[in-house]
Amino acid sequence: MSQPEDTTQCCIAGGGPAGLMLGYLLARSGVRVTVLEKHDDFLRDFRGDTIHPSTLTVLQDLGLLDSFLKLPHDEVPELVGDVFGEITPLADFRHLPAARPFLVLVPQWDFLDFLADEARKLPNFTLLLGTKAEAVIEEGGAVRGVQVRNRERAWHIRADLVVGADGRHTTIRESAGLPITEVGAPIDVLWFRLERDAQAHPARTGGILRPGAMLVMLGRGTYWQCAYVIPKGSLETLRAQGLAHFRDRVAAIAPYLAPQLAALQSWDDIRLLSVQITDLPRWWREGLLCIGDAAHAMSPVGGVGINLAIQDAVAAANLLAVPLREGRLRASDLEAVQKRRQWPARVTQRAQVAVQNSLLSPLLARPAGEHATPPLGVRLLQRLPLLRRLPARLVGIGVRPERVRVAPHPPVQ
Ligand SMILES: Cc1cc2nc3c(=O)[nH]c(=O)nc-3n(C[C@H](O)[C@H](O)[C@H](O)COP(=O)(O)OP(=O)(O)OC[C@H]3O[C@@H](n4cnc5c(N)ncnc54)[C@H](O)[C@@H]3O)c2cc1C
Repeated sequence: MSQPEDTTQCCIAGGGPAGLMLGYLLARSGVRVTVLEKHDDFLRDFRGDTIHPSTLTVLQDLGLLDSFLKLPHDEVPELVGDVFGEITPLADFRHLPAARPFLVLVPQWDFLDFLADEARKLPNFTLLLGTKAEAVIEEGGAVRGVQVRNRERAWHIRADLVVGADGRHTTIRESAGLPITEVGAPIDVLWFRLERDAQAHPARTGGILRPGAMLVMLGRGTYWQCAYVIPKGSLETLRAQGLAHFRDRVAAIAPYLAPQLAALQSWDDIRLLSVQITDLPRWWREGLLCIGDAAHAMSPVGGVGINLAIQDAVAAANLLAVPLREGRLRASDLEAVQKRRQWPARVTQRAQVAVQNSLLSPLLARPAGEHATPPLGVRLLQRLPLLRRLPARLVGIGVRPERVRVAPHPPVQ
């Protein structure tokens, strides 16, 4: 039976950082865009809160930076770690050539709501919440649209371009038959929240490293969002040892958290992020492009996933907005997006793999309580302030940063 049909110029599956930024940029440059988001809102926890200096520069390019910075947020000019008991500055963002020389911590749903609100001001932008992309529609070997469904109905959206920005569990990439390569990751991460006692707790957002353990704490107003790193696949062993044992392990490296840890009463209070690094050899087919986590799931090392997703969106808009608007999109335009963005994604993933293999895995393999001194790299960062600009650059700006090059344009009817 044939389905009712809508038509648009670009249909984007996924209202995450990549999909919403691309939707906004294309609509701003005159392209008719529909963004599909399977959830009814953006209130999903926890997927990262870090907005990096390069994204702040993009927001400045768009004239949105000042209003973005009116959202409640924290500004982090320097990342500091507690490495085997020594407080160590690890990355200094203050010298970066960016619109603002700091990292912003803002709940991701506030950032996505902000982008969606700005995009909705554009007449040719449509956001369909509670609407799932189920599969691509193919004709003659090319992708011509998407099958979609909400609670009431199922229908087809025909589009000159379909974008898979639907994250690492992407339906679009799967249904289009684009195979990925697993790069592999030796760690998983346990996420949980702990109440924050402003009097008793140091104000720092940062990491604590001890032999056998690593804990990252992100300040979120009244609570800490905590990430506890474990060897891949070891959650079951940890569960078998019991929750009290887990609380003791965390308290052993951050004793001031002990009273708050009592709030972890069930393993349901602790979420597993199964860390994945994936590479997509081919990001596109005729009529289809994948970006963001759908093209390259990242390790949480450096907290760069949101940033890379935004950078992909900016590059895609720079390269595709005019051909899309003028109805002359070619496969070579899609190939150009992959050429521009695959290299930065791969370089970043290699750096993450190097940190995982040379720092995190050996750290987690050490017996808890063993005496340890900070590794050479950390000691150099302690002694040489200039050196702290390098990790700041890699994390805060990354390789091949993008600027918005496509001008605003009225919608084409
Ligand atoms: C626990 C955790 C912590 C993280 N911490 C950080 C961090 O601190 N800093 C950082 O930079 N990155 C972090 N990340 C990674 C970051 O969330 C991702 O790299 C980034 O969000 C990728 O953006 P994206 O738009 O490509 O995909 P996503 O953010 O995954 O967005 C995809 C969107 O598509 C929607 N969707 C999925 N399937 C469909 C469908 N079939 N139809 C319609 N909609 C669909 C999803 O609901 C989602 O809203 C973290 C990730 C996790 C899981």
